[in-house]
Amino acid sequence: MTELSNSTAAGTSTAGDSTASSSAWTGASAILFDLDGVLTPTAIVHERAWQELFDGYLQDVPGADGYRESDYFDHIDGKPRFDGVRDFLASRSIVLPEGPADDDPANDTVHGLGNRKNKVFNDIVEAGGVAPYEGSVRFLEAAEALGLKVAVVSSSRNAPAVLLAAGLADHFPVVVDGVVAAAAGLPGKPSPATYEYAAQLLDLPSEECVVVEDAVSGVQAGSAGSFHAVIGVDRGAGRQTLLDAGATLVVDDLNELL
Ligand SMILES: [Mg+2]
Repeated sequence: MTELSNSTAAGTSTAGDSTASSSAWTGASAILFDLDGVLTPTAIVHERAWQELFDGYLQDVPGADGYRESDYFDHIDGKPRFDGVRDFLASRSIVLPEGPADDDPANDTVHGLGNRKNKVFNDIVEAGGVAPYEGSVRFLEAAEALGLKVAVVSSSRNAPAVLLAAGLADHFPVVVDGVVAAAAGLPGKPSPATYEYAAQLLDLPSEECVVVEDAVSGVQAGSAGSFHAVIGVDRGAGRQTLLDAGATLVVDDLNELL
């Protein structure tokens, strides 16, 4: 283990405790990774797509407060897409009809808005590709080299496409994404169900699996289960917020765990 030199100004606590960092995952048999914001910087793409969606939608809603960056973290981040739509709208006291699951993206329904957001997201990914976080790839490869099993647990229905675009698909025969969760009838994060399902698919008890998450709802999901540890990756949610949500420890980058 490398000794982490902590040159941060006094009073700014960091995850510079290498003992705590390594003990969070030593002894574990598997690492369950969230995707967007943990392995790939696609949380930013999702954030942009949501902003574009609601900026456009709210223009036609007189008197509604405009979309703010904090709305993403408060109401949307980490949740299944349609829950994000519904919960954001609720924050503005807006209730829309659900519409069919494959509703036209042009329709102002929960599913229409969700599908519109998905279209914006896919357009951005296809145009720009996805480069995974370097520190996350190093951590993933180190875990695999130690013989740990790995899986991806994502609320997104785009997880396989994003993994392919990032060149990571071959690492993950087990992917529990929004499609798998819906087919298995599992509630999304903050329920621990999708993480527990991934552990089952790896043939391991939850106690032997580490959850790695960047979203409050995802950390809550890990914390609600009986996992070995929940590692929070602070990509903007806030270190203390992730600790309060139940993270065992919080890092800025997964290379801090090496
Ligand atoms: Mg995430």
